[in-house]
Amino acid sequence: MKLDRALGLLREVPDFPRPGVVFRDLTPVLANPDALRAVVDALQDKIHPDTQVVAAIESRGFLLGAALGYGWRYGVVPLRKPGKLPAVAHRVSYDLEYGTATLELPADSITPGQQVVVVDDVLATGGTAAAACQLVERAGGVVTGVSVALELTALAGRDRLPGRSVHSLLAV
Ligand code: IMP
Repeated sequence: MKLDRALGLLREVPDFPRPGVVFRDLTPVLANPDALRAVVDALQDKIHPDTQVVAAIESRGFLLGAALGYGWRYGVVPLRKPGKLPAVAHRVSYDLEYGTATLELPADSITPGQQVVVVDDVLATGGTAAAACQLVERAGGVVTGVSVALELTALAGRDRLPGRSVHSLLAV
């Protein structure tokens, strides 16, 4: 399936998770076998060839990250919300519009010098991806890029990732 048709399956959900917000839902894309393949292949096309590990952001990043890892032999490291990991190596908190959020890196996952791509479904304000990059670097990893399916340009996520190689399949 062509990428534009695959991404055409994206669902827009008004007023989720709160009034005034339009949530971009990748679920119908992932649920279609040809669309899933088109999206994962297109993400892979932009991943730096030196990359060894995918750092996948909870939770939809896990789905894309695992497919990339299996397909192209990357290790997959889940970056998780607090309270999920049994052993935590590093923790980064970052600001949201209302309040803060935290991401954690599992112990014994990324080793110094490893080349790591950060993967998620959506880049919005960029806070989550920036925290993910910080986590990788605290462990001594080298961020080869940030790859997402969808970028919400109005929220200027790239501005929080200066100097990073950021790839999105679709910018809206
Ligand atoms: P950011 O930190 O503002 O860039 O938000 C990105 C994180 O929030 C990602 O982990 C996304 O999964 C999630 N997110 C934000 N907006 C949306 C959306 O419209 N659809 C799906 N996920 C979203």
